Amino acid sequence: MPFIDTHCHLDFDVFDSCRESLVQDCLKDGLTHLVLPGVTQAGWKKLLDVGQAINGAAVAPGLHPCFISEHLESHLEELRSLISTHRQLVVAVGEVGLDFFVNSPDRQKQQRIFEQQIVVADLFDLPLLLHVRKAHDEVRQTIRRLKFTGGGIVHCYSGSLMQAEQYLALGFKIGIGGVITFHNAHRLQKIAAALPLSAFVLETDAPDIPPEGWSGEFNTPKSLPEIYQAFCSHRSESPEQIAKVLYENSVALFPQLES
Ligand SMILES: [Zn+2]
Repeated sequence: MPFIDTHCHLDFDVFDSCRESLVQDCLKDGLTHLVLPGVTQAGWKKLLDVGQAINGAAVAPGLHPCFISEHLESHLEELRSLISTHRQLVVAVGEVGLDFFVNSPDRQKQQRIFEQQIVVADLFDLPLLLHVRKAHDEVRQTIRRLKFTGGGIVHCYSGSLMQAEQYLALGFKIGIGGVITFHNAHRLQKIAAALPLSAFVLETDAPDIPPEGWSGEFNTPKSLPEIYQAFCSHRSESPEQIAKVLYENSVALFPQLES
């Protein structure tokens, strides 16, 4: 059964010494594709280099709301030209959004940079990889106001069931990662059980958010089967059916991955 990790930071330095063997191990586990989201402009070059070097990898360059002080207006122009020159490798704009959970967030600048990146995604007909904390209503309002219809993934979903349904109505999928394995993640587990299978995709967010009891020093895409199994335990469909639909959901968002 093929799997897609829709969100892992395999370009981060922590993977420099183990990246190649890790990718080989992932292939053995059926992990055929990886989507690498961007964080800051300073990291885009390496993001592209790593994305190009790995068979089955694709990238989602963007400006992450948690690093808002590092982003400049000029990065938006750079993002546009980067996407147009690497159109084959780029499957989304990410990770982008609003994070009002961080200490003293610069809400205005976050909002501005987010909106500008929605415009870029729209220009290239790309979906969004959303990073959202304590700002789900603001993010959906923004998407509606800008009339963005390209959809995407709400990565590491932390909202309510009702908010999840509203994201689905806007064309977004719910990203399920390591949190689903946490024994106290009741709200997310209920959401995993309640929505149709078409609502979900899998992700690891490696090197962050390892599954509960993960023995490694940091999370890797190798935790995806564990996340998948935890997700299956909240569903009534067969594991094969679940794997098939989750794979199809990801390919529907990122059609380049199938070719
Ligand atoms: Zn991430």
